This record gives sequence, C-alpha cells and structure tokens, in this order.
Amino acid sequence: MRVVLATANPGKQREFATLLAPRGFELVLQSDLGIASIEETGNTFEDNALLKARHAALTAGLPALADDSGLEVDALGGRPGVWSARFAGPGASDEQNNARLIAELAELPAAQRTARYRCVLAFRRSGRDTHPILAQGSWEGRIGFEPIGGGGFGYDPYFIPNGLNCTAAELGAAHKNALSHRGAALRDLIARLGSWP
Ligand code: IMP
Repeated sequence: MRVVLATANPGKQREFATLLAPRGFELVLQSDLGIASIEETGNTFEDNALLKARHAALTAGLPALADDSGLEVDALGGRPGVWSARFAGPGASDEQNNARLIAELAELPAAQRTARYRCVLAFRRSGRDTHPILAQGSWEGRIGFEPIGGGGFGYDPYFIPNGLNCTAAELGAAHKNALSHRGAALRDLIARLGSWP
C-alpha cells in the first residue's frame, strides 16, 4: 500500500521504511509528489503531526504518515520542544540552535541538565479520517558541556542518553534507531496499527 510521508527528508524515509516495509507500506515522500510542506503552527507535537498528516493525505489522496519531534529540557520548562528546529530563530542552523541551548544552560551542573527527545507520529488512513492513529516515543538523557561525535543531526552532539557514556552523535544509525524516540514511536505505531488494513 502506498503511504505518503509528510516530509522532504530522505533520511526519515529510509528510517521509517526499515520498520514499515515489512508491513506492506510503500512510503512516498510528499516532496516527490510535488506537495509542499505546511507551516507547523501547533503548540504540541501531536497538533503538528496531525496537521501535517491531514495536509498530506488530503493533497495526495493517499493514507499519510507524519512525525513531529524535538528536545525537551527540564531546566527550561520543556523548551525548545516544538520549536527545536527554530530555537535560535526561523531558518536557524543546528550549530546556532546548539549555541543557544548551551548558552541557556551555561550555569547548570550535570545533574540539572536532564532532557528528553520526543517523537509523535500521526497516521491518517485518508484525508477524511476522523480517528487518526497517534503514536509516540521518548528518549531520556542529559545535555553535555562539549559537542562530541560526527553522526546524527540536530542536538545529538550534546545529547547523552541515559545509560550510555557517549553522545547520540557517536552512535551508528542502527544503534540510534534501536534506542531513539523515533524508533520507539515507530514500534508504538506498528502495535497500534494492529492488523490494519
Ligand atoms: P522535525 O521533527 O524534523 O521537525 O525535527 C525537529 C527538530 O528537533 C530537529 O530539527 C532537531 O533540532 C530536533 N530533533 C528531533 N529529533 C532529533 C534527533 O534524533 N537528534 C537531534 N535532534 C533532533
């Protein structure tokens, strides 16, 4: 079954396909269908995932899967959260977002730098689906003091997962998927899909 993925990111397409292809899903990037991304105007990961999935499903006329994710830092009251990609302003680079994060946490010792990544997935069977499936996953850790590692993206060089002595940017892709918020959300989605279709 063809399912439109509400992103332009081929990395996500590969990551999601690993777990969803065995379920018979053929994931097509919305950008490959000429569908532009819409503004993420929600205040929660759930709202943003739902609005992206609705737009993709309505425009493509296919079932749609969307994700929204970000970093929640306890000492910042859960920020940057849904604003993770634009923490340092619209169009900010990963480096700029990381610089703002580290500046805001400057005075805090390791014990007060707890954080988590969260990912919410929304699956709509069609544009008119009034009971979309929501799934989620999280990954607990803390924010380090120095950037370490060349893998991953975003805040990974500073994110030290609980139970590990390295950053997320030091993990291989398969290892990260096995532990990450996105991997957990995907496994939750597969459980919630049950035997659908
Ligand atoms: P989006 O869900 O693709 O919109 O991602 C939101 C933002 O959250 C990204 O731009 C990153 O700043 C951050 N983020 C989400 N997941 C990860 C991750 O696995 N590693 C690092 N940063 C992440």
